[in-house]
Amino acid sequence: MFELIRDIKDMKRRSSALRDEGTGVAFVPTMGYLHEGHLALIRKAAELRPFVVVSIFVNPAQFGPSEDFERYPRDIERDCRLVGEAGGDLVFAPAAADIYPNGYDTYVEVENRSRYLCGASRPGHFRGVATIVLKLFNIVRPDLAVFGEKDYQQLVIIKGLVRDLDLDIDIIGHPIVREADGLAMSSRNKYLSPAERVRALCLYNALQEGSRLHGEGERDAGRIRRAMAEIIEKTGGTVVDYASVVDPDTLEDIETIRDGALLALAVRVGETRLIDNLLLPGPGATR
Ligand code: AMP
Repeated sequence: MFELIRDIKDMKRRSSALRDEGTGVAFVPTMGYLHEGHLALIRKAAELRPFVVVSIFVNPAQFGPSEDFERYPRDIERDCRLVGEAGGDLVFAPAAADIYPNGYDTYVEVENRSRYLCGASRPGHFRGVATIVLKLFNIVRPDLAVFGEKDYQQLVIIKGLVRDLDLDIDIIGHPIVREADGLAMSSRNKYLSPAERVRALCLYNALQEGSRLHGEGERDAGRIRRAMAEIIEKTGGTVVDYASVVDPDTLEDIETIRDGALLALAVRVGETRLIDNLLLPGPGATR
């Protein structure tokens, strides 16, 4: 029977009961407004463990003051139905005032991997992400959690958090789920006008071009960066936030591609900030 829990204490009671029964719990944290990308994570979670918890929480701590927290799309009823259809067993959807009550004062800082890419353009974002993920892990107490490679930096940061803080949770990455034409699925795609939806394809096209150049033997990361940025800029109506070639483990910029590399993009299409990435193959690339 499908369950919806909003109260933190109720969720903790349920988590303890599942632990006591010895039921393995897989966890998929989300901000809701679910699409096929989220559902693929939920299906994967259901393959790996008998009980799947999905959290739906638009986390104010990971949004900057001028970002889209207020207008972020929400539809909890539809989300619950989709979670059930994808094989999820329980939705945990707490209220922000319960997660961050008056006097809330503790945050988790991941020092180095938070500096680059989205961390550079969204100050405090990963502090908010690491804090909510650790809180949700403590409330849900899963033994496994599934995260999308769409948010590659987030995945790397959460793997580091689990390692550094000795959490007994397996972190599983899931490949990016795309629309038929290549656009990475995202709840924020809803913001795009029809003309912007066409322009948004430039992220995928730029990554494909980067990958093509690498396949032809290009190892100068600067040339690949420039080729990607050029494709995005010539699209029009777009602003490159970053077009980067980084080490997939440390997320630092690289100059010459020796092992694997991560091509990572953040682009404003109109008012909407979209991200995407592609992992170039190589012995150094972790999946
Ligand atoms: P969000 O609701 O955007 O915070 O995303 C919740 C989880 O779904 C994160 O682990 C994301 O990386 C993952 N996710 C979002 N979009 C996709 C996608 N297109 N493909 C794979 N995973 C995704």
